[in-house]
Amino acid sequence: MKQYELVIGLEVHCQLATRTKLFCGCGTDGFGQAPNSRICPLCTAQPGVLPVLNRRAVELAFQAALALECRLAEQSIFARKNYFYPDLPKAYQISQYDQPFSRHGRLEITVNGTVKTIGITRIHMEEDAGKLVHELAGSKLDGSLVDLNRAGVPLIEIVSEPDIRSSEEAYAYLTALKEVIQFTGASRCDMEKGEMRCDANVSVRPVGQKEFGTRTETKNLNSFKNVKDAIEFERDRQIALIEAGGVIVQETRLWDAALQAGRSMRTKEDAHDYRYFPDPDLVPLVADEAWVAALKAGLSELPKAKRARFMGELGLSSYDADVLTGDKALSEYFEKAVAAAPAGSAKTVSNLLTTEMLGRMNAEGKTAAQSPVAAEHLGALARLIAGGTLSSKGAKDVFARMWATGKDPRALVEELGLSQVSDDKQVMEWVRQALAANPKAAADLKGGKEAAIGSIVGGVMKLSKGKANPALVNKLIKEAVQA
Ligand SMILES: [Zn+2]
Repeated sequence: MKQYELVIGLEVHCQLATRTKLFCGCGTDGFGQAPNSRICPLCTAQPGVLPVLNRRAVELAFQAALALECRLAEQSIFARKNYFYPDLPKAYQISQYDQPFSRHGRLEITVNGTVKTIGITRIHMEEDAGKLVHELAGSKLDGSLVDLNRAGVPLIEIVSEPDIRSSEEAYAYLTALKEVIQFTGASRCDMEKGEMRCDANVSVRPVGQKEFGTRTETKNLNSFKNVKDAIEFERDRQIALIEAGGVIVQETRLWDAALQAGRSMRTKEDAHDYRYFPDPDLVPLVADEAWVAALKAGLSELPKAKRARFMGELGLSSYDADVLTGDKALSEYFEKAVAAAPAGSAKTVSNLLTTEMLGRMNAEGKTAAQSPVAAEHLGALARLIAGGTLSSKGAKDVFARMWATGKDPRALVEELGLSQVSDDKQVMEWVRQALAANPKAAADLKGGKEAAIGSIVGGVMKLSKGKANPALVNKLIKEAVQA
């Protein structure tokens, strides 16, 4: 059998995080709400309505494009994409066609330690369609119902170059893309709510062949795992078909996650099937230079820059920096906590976050923003450790109580009586008692047997009920023995 190479291009739709739809004032919060509770004459295509472009949607779309290093067009055109489907009341979708607002971007991905750049062909704005409902409360309907809550919700479509060569690279690309888009705030990318969806264009070719093979497009993949599975299925199907002497047909396919199989939906349309033309109701979108400069200045720090800063300025390991920048809410939480902690304790904060908080968050399905422990309180906990009030064991106990109660660690230290004793006089008193109670160890220590210190420390801890500051105990034992 010949060796084959995969060629993948991804088209990703992200819902822009606006309050209202792209061309009317209806809310974008219709997910999970009563059907058709977020509609008006415009997004249901009543006669005589005119669209008004949502300024905020344009700002967010431009910021996403800037973050993906795209070139912005001075002028872009909204076009009508004509097709008939019952979830599309106008029988056309307003999109951008031959003059999108941005092109030629790029995104870096890392797979198995190797960095690769994936080209971004273009990003354009468009409106979402509605949704057909085929069953209600678990029972199949005789006909279909239409819910237009989603009709007119603003989207960007991000089209990659066919630079992706494996399902792992596709997965890494989507992960990196989601990270960048979330950091800009352009989209929340909540896949469960349909705020990020992916179409995968897949073809295979014999290794060494220059021309691409015929590609198929698998539509509406709603999780990264589905994208990976669908690509691998399509790779195997195409190779088997070619090896058996068959021919790949250019077509649109659907992925059935339950069956772990794809199936043909329709032969692929070409652009001319949609009869694109400029929407006469909308003027060209002109990007004012000063306005774009302001958007660029307002762009929040991106994951790559943040990661470098966490390692360089705060001294975190690359692993910790990766974990903390993998999620926008988590990175913001971390920075807030560091701001509340004493200088130089970023590593302590990072350790508390990764060892104490992340596991609890994952177990309870919470984001950092939903943590019962306030970021300022985590910073205060790091301060208690740095100041010697709490041992690391004590900090663990206090954190568990903070998670359960949401209380300030300073109050909990009092409540739990966990405050570490760092008073020289009190600790010295315990040291004297421990030495007196264990004359053999005391003599050994005096005679130079360093290991004997362990049992004296143990004695002090017992006398202090574990509250003596260990560093101070060690120091004072040595002083007492040398005296
Ligand atoms: Zn509306």
